[in-house]
This record gives sequence, structure tokens and C-alpha cells, in this order.
Amino acid sequence: MKNESEYPKTLLEAGRYFADPDVCVEFVRSMRWPDGAKCPQCGGEKVSYLSTRRIFKCMAKDCHKQFSVKVGTIFEDSAVPLDKWLVAVWLVVNCKNGISSYEIARDLNVTQKSAWFMLHRIRFALREGDWGKLGGSESGPVEIDEVYIGGEPKNRHRRDWRARQNLPTVQTLDGLRPKWKTGRASDKVPVFGMLDRETRKVRTQVIPEVKRSVLMDAILANVEKRSTIYSDGLRDYIPLKAMDFIHDTVNHVTEYVRGEVHTNGIENYWSLLKRGLKGTYIAVEPFHLHRYADEQAFRFNNRATKDNPLDDRDRFMLAVSQISGKRLTYAELTGKTERPEVF
Ligand SMILES: [Zn+2]
Repeated sequence: MKNESEYPKTLLEAGRYFADPDVCVEFVRSMRWPDGAKCPQCGGEKVSYLSTRRIFKCMAKDCHKQFSVKVGTIFEDSAVPLDKWLVAVWLVVNCKNGISSYEIARDLNVTQKSAWFMLHRIRFALREGDWGKLGGSESGPVEIDEVYIGGEPKNRHRRDWRARQNLPTVQTLDGLRPKWKTGRASDKVPVFGMLDRETRKVRTQVIPEVKRSVLMDAILANVEKRSTIYSDGLRDYIPLKAMDFIHDTVNHVTEYVRGEVHTNGIENYWSLLKRGLKGTYIAVEPFHLHRYADEQAFRFNNRATKDNPLDDRDRFMLAVSQISGKRLTYAELTGKTERPEVF
């Protein structure tokens, strides 16, 4: 890979830099395969490059697979050229509150449908991979909180009602959840969030409903035992102490902050998420909510702080480093295939 300082530092520079298709291929190649292209079919490392067609060809005797640099990434099977993809990634990770498919369509001269698809694929790449657990007895406290997003307040209980009526469900790795009605009549969707005060990183999960067993499962899966946890006074959090966590609650009615005991960090994230959803996105379908949350979490977790002065280029490079091995088809995005989905 090149010296990082040779890569663009601003949107304007990125637009100029990626205007050359050969530069785009070389850039994505160097991020995916720093030691040279590998055959996606057989894993062979003897690969030649057909520069006129910008295609790689596996030289292994029984393989001869031809492939582009997009194969196996979020760019695969897309007719949108790499320069537009890369600038779109830049725009998404460096805007403050999010960017709509209409803005992407206008800025990059693609159709709104293409822009929508690109945005979702980029969000998919922004989801952090295998994280360890938050907290720990040696680490700082973990703030937890739950919110309802989207829809009208009067619809809040409709999803539970739908679940009870044996309406269609979707298998997820976390069990069954109701198949959400999409479009205008969207319901409120509960989201559970956790923020590690030590690393200042947030993690969110769209949950089927706010109830004790669901919340406890999420906490056990994401937070080390013996961690200190701060939450609001929701009664569903009462079992935490018995489950080997140190638990303290904030009572928002009578006190806002009691020393260390507060959930201001995670509430800060919720306000960013809500502002982004309100200002930028015309309508959020509950089915896609976890991807919007992932996008906002990426920006929140990689924002510049005193200890960690990240800039636009750093966020862009980090995002592009996550594109490999991630693919999302249009059918999966629109819910036309029922693939188990991890929240
Ligand atoms: Zn091969």
C-alpha cells in the first residue's frame, strides 16, 4: 500500500483522485489484497491482470477464473463504477447526520433507486464485525438504555399485538421476530443501546420488544460479567445485580446526574440517531432501522476526540477496509428473500 499521506484528504481531492478508473481499481486492490490479488474461486495467488479490461485472471491450471476487484465486496454485481462508489462512501462516513438517497443521486448522477441500494450496502459494511464484550471488572462502566424509534406513538403496542395474532414472523439468529409491515404505517421499533465509557464506543441492537428476557439476553451477549452498568430505572433491569453485574440507576425525574452515575453518553448517541432520521431520511422502514443505527454508530465511534484525532480520510480508509467479504443483494435488502439476519 502507498504511504497514507498520498491518499485524498478532502471530498474535493477524493473526487479528483478517484476520477481515474485505474486508480480506483488499484486503491481497492491494495485495501483488499495488500500482498496482491487472490483468486476468489480457488484462493490461488498466481493472478495476472488484464489492464485493458481491468480484470484479474487466475493462472492456476484448473481454475482460470476471471474476476474484478469488486467480487466478494459490497460493490459486487453493481453497474455503478468504482469512482462513484468510493465518493459515496466518503460522503456517508463524513457527513454529520446522514445523507439521503436523493442527495447521493444528485451528487453522483445515479438514479435514486441505485443511490438507495448503494447507501444500504455501505451501511452494511459499516457494521462492526466481531467485537469483544464491553466493560469488564477492570474497565469503565457501561451505560445502557432503550428507545423507541419511528412510527406514531399510538402504534407502539401494535407490534406486540401483531406478534400475538400469529402474524408472519421472520427467523433471525436471535429467534423469531414479527415480520414488520413496511411503508407508511410503520410501527415504533425498540432499539437497545450500550456504551462503553472507557472506549467511548456504542453498540446498538434492534430488539423485538422491550421486555426483561430480551434485554437480559442482549446484555449477557454484549457486556462482561462483573461490569458496572448504569441504566434508567426501568424495572426490567432489576435482575442485573443477581446476574453478577454491578448496577446503578439514574432517576430522571428527581435527578439528572449523580456523579459518575448517568447515561448521558448513550443519550447523546440517541439524539444523533433521531436527528439523522428526522432530518435526512424521508421514511425509515423498521426493517432497515438497524442499518441506519449501524451507520450512525460508525460515525459516533469514529468521531474525532482529544485522544483519538481521526479525520475524514481516516474514517474513509476504515470504511473501505470493511467492504471486503460483505455483500447484500437487492432481494435481501427489499426483504424478498428470508435470510436469517443478525441484528
Ligand atoms: Zn483460481
